[in-house]
Amino acid sequence: MTGANPSTPPSDATGSVDLHTHSTYSDGTLTPSALVAEAKRRSLRVIALTDHDTLAGLPEAEQASRDTGLKFIPGVEPSTNSGSFETHVLGYYVNSSDVVLTAQLSELAAQRVTRAERIVERLNTLGIPVTMERVREIAGTGSIGRPHIARAIIELGHAESVSDAFDLFLGTSRPGFVPRERALPEDSVRMLVAAGALPVLAHPLSTGDIEGMLNRLVPVGLVGMEVYYGEYDVATRNELAGIAARWNLIPTGGSDYHGPGFKEGRELGAAAVPVSVSRRLHERFELGR
Ligand code: AMP
Ligand code: ZN
Ligand code: FE
Ligand code: FE
Repeated sequence: MTGANPSTPPSDATGSVDLHTHSTYSDGTLTPSALVAEAKRRSLRVIALTDHDTLAGLPEAEQASRDTGLKFIPGVEPSTNSGSFETHVLGYYVNSSDVVLTAQLSELAAQRVTRAERIVERLNTLGIPVTMERVREIAGTGSIGRPHIARAIIELGHAESVSDAFDLFLGTSRPGFVPRERALPEDSVRMLVAAGALPVLAHPLSTGDIEGMLNRLVPVGLVGMEVYYGEYDVATRNELAGIAARWNLIPTGGSDYHGPGFKEGRELGAAAVPVSVSRRLHERFELGR
């Protein structure tokens, strides 16, 4: 990304908020309770749990953060597919006992299983004897994802790390890549709006044409966009902050934490999200109630 932008992200009390994390209920390696404990250990003030396609980890995280002084925001990251780029949407202030949303998400989670089966078949034809049985064991009760398959590949000695497994096999256009079923990001945004949640565009760089995507998602109810993303440098964040301001979107962020040692820049709290961000998100939520 290029070009100077006058608008710089606010720098108050950075590092104490993380609004993008995963637990063992999807493809993270910490349970929701362990995640909350880690957030406390790192003196974070606000965290959100945003597992892929499931609300199942939220009650445990809510329970674990009760009376700890840590504010917990219930969230979710529904799967979408809009072509060759990855567009992910996060939803905040979801209600973990929402039966309609739970049913819609379980459909997406079921598609994850079918996709994983196809990826495993691909890997087998490439001579990597990964089994679906082992992938399911690694996933446990979590919604299955490529990081689980990556761990199965590592066990067999065909990759050294999760990133390595993505670079070699699982990433977009790598030989083991299978696209997700079509699930438009605007449908995700509409689903979250209908559930009374706040939809936010995750890691905008992976969406390719950011402005084009905002043109599609803002009219259907997008309220924010990740600016403070663990892997983004200061220049990128500044540029994204300018785009968010122009579109009147709340500049949110998080590390996209998947457990210790997952990937560089992805440690809990590493995204240095200002406290003002969670405040603005909360105010926006209260406004819509
Ligand atoms: P899936 O939901 O099955 O498509 O898998 C996507 C997950 O894999 C996301 O949560 C990412 O954080 C993770 N992921 C994507 N690309 C990479 C990469 N290059 N290295 C490590 N993890 C990745
Ligand atoms: Zn994930
Ligand atoms: Fe994502
Ligand atoms: Fe994520």
